[in-house]
Amino acid sequence: MQTLETLSFDNSYTRLPEGFFQRVRPTPFPNPHLVSVNPAAAELIHLDPNEAKRPEFAEYFCGAKLFPGSDPLATLYSGHQFGHYVPQLGDGRAILLGEVRTDEGETWELQLKGAGLTRFSRDGDGRAILRSTIREYLCGEAMHALGISTTRSLCIVSGEEIVWRETPEPGAMLLRMAPSHVRFGTFEVFFYRGQHENLKILADYVIQHHYPHLVDVENRYARLLHEVAVRTGEMIAQWQAVGWSHGVMNTDNMSILGLTIDYGPYGFMEAFHPGFVCNHSDHRGRYSFQHQPDIGYWNIRALAKAMSPLIEQAEIQAAPELYEKTMLEKYAGLMQEKLGLIETHTGDDKLVTDLLNLMDSSRTDYTNLFRSLSKFQQESPNGNSTIRDQFLHREAFDDWTARYRDRLQAEKSRDRERQIRMNQSNPKYILRNHLAQKAIEQATRHKDYAEIDRLLNLLNDPFTEQPGMEAYAIPQDSDSSPIIVSCSS
Ligand code: AMP
Ligand code: MG
Repeated sequence: MQTLETLSFDNSYTRLPEGFFQRVRPTPFPNPHLVSVNPAAAELIHLDPNEAKRPEFAEYFCGAKLFPGSDPLATLYSGHQFGHYVPQLGDGRAILLGEVRTDEGETWELQLKGAGLTRFSRDGDGRAILRSTIREYLCGEAMHALGISTTRSLCIVSGEEIVWRETPEPGAMLLRMAPSHVRFGTFEVFFYRGQHENLKILADYVIQHHYPHLVDVENRYARLLHEVAVRTGEMIAQWQAVGWSHGVMNTDNMSILGLTIDYGPYGFMEAFHPGFVCNHSDHRGRYSFQHQPDIGYWNIRALAKAMSPLIEQAEIQAAPELYEKTMLEKYAGLMQEKLGLIETHTGDDKLVTDLLNLMDSSRTDYTNLFRSLSKFQQESPNGNSTIRDQFLHREAFDDWTARYRDRLQAEKSRDRERQIRMNQSNPKYILRNHLAQKAIEQATRHKDYAEIDRLLNLLNDPFTEQPGMEAYAIPQDSDSSPIIVSCSS
């Protein structure tokens, strides 16, 4: 186990050419205090969780103290925002403290979000508010527990600093971890600047550190692009299957490792609706739930274009197709699991779409419907009333269940075993906006952080019924006002 002072830092990004980054120190908050620490992430870097009891913990994780060996920097990138190319973005409020190397040879970048101004801050203040920090902290871990590739969350530190958004709010910093925070936009910036040598240096860096099996491969840049396409396709299929929307799928928010990154105005859908738009600033619904797979395709094309000086034309064209094929296959497989099916039969995709259409017309809670479907009884139609009652058009649902029953019988499915399987694919608990909101309100109004830790624990084990937690599996009360989340956080 490591202490704060014995973590072993490397700073491989500093060995890239100068234009790739700016060396910059975090700007600490006055009187920092720890809001929450996640022992599961501490374990990844072998940091002793008892270190969180030391007052220095908050100082290190708000930049007041610099870790021995850390050489902090902000990285340059650009990207397509809502379809338009923005020539320069970069880490405007996130500072990379360096990579921690474990004894097993794993490396984790430690990035402090909300750490103050950098060369790339543009009009921003370099800060993050406690509200958005809590949302990112919890969702990263919730997604991980759902089996979805994502950045991880180590801790939140707040302090005596007020940050202005629409209103004054407490500021905070999030320490997030990933093997790499390189984005599609990191490639785009060198392509659009015509700096093809830098493009190659970046691709080699990513391969050496994160795709080492490609180092000696002849067409390694094409293989890199194709592996990113596959990982992205798998990730987006998982988002769709779990009913989650990112909200801001700009190419600067797309990870070169296929990680879910930059949690902002995201949302888990409650009432199923394909046109669901979680980001209040997304007036045209570009990033609506149903568009995500197509946006993934668009983004892979943008990456392929950015990498085009390194790759032959045919391989470039193959990337979005590979993405699409992967995404569709993965999605079909996940939906098959959600229905508790083991075999693949023709017509299964229609069984899925017809159920989703019924859910759409009844605005059924996406998560709860699939969870309750595990209790479906093939032999006792009356035993299925709790599922049936979630639909407005009961007869249409009866028709669907007759087909579902036939389909289950066609593979000789046994209810008990199917239920166990389905409960491992259909979560009981997701990070509903109103749950996060309760934790946010207690934190911002009363500096009471207990609810954050309660949610962190709950969402760490989303497939297991947890006693006394029934209220955490219920959608937001339809009488209460909707929770609005947007880009500005
Ligand atoms: P996002 O929409 O959070 O992915 O951010 C898009 C770009 O704006 C990134 O380059 C961010 O670093 C930058 N940015 C967002 N918020 C701030 C802020 N408060 N201060 C400085 N830069 C910011
Ligand atoms: Mg971003």
